[in-house]
Amino acid sequence: MVIKTFRDIVDRQKSIKKLEEMKRYIEKRIQELEQEKAPGPVVRAGREILKVEMAGKVTYQLERVKCGKPNCQKCPHGPYWYGYKRVGGKLKSFYVGKELPKEAKNRKGGQAPSVLQQ
Ligand SMILES: [Zn+2]
Repeated sequence: MVIKTFRDIVDRQKSIKKLEEMKRYIEKRIQELEQEKAPGPVVRAGREILKVEMAGKVTYQLERVKCGKPNCQKCPHGPYWYGYKRVGGKLKSFYVGKELPKEAKNRKGGQAPSVLQQ
């Protein structure tokens, strides 16, 4: 059997109902793939972002943090690295440390290093 291209399939389909079905399926797939991407710069109150590194599905950010305690002499704290990723559609954050492990730097695609996964 010859594998048809996307356009062949769509152009030969005369049923609007079927085309609508395809459209909904494509929209669902786009949403799913969007969910899998690294969340991109995550802006949070009281935090200054100094650096952003994307590694697969995880976004690492070097941040200075205001703890919110009144009269804190050490504010802002850090900078420290934090990781952000989506889990089941929800944004999760986790503390990484003062240094970003080199495996997390300049990685294109793929999974984040297992040591950094919660
Ligand atoms: Zn503080």
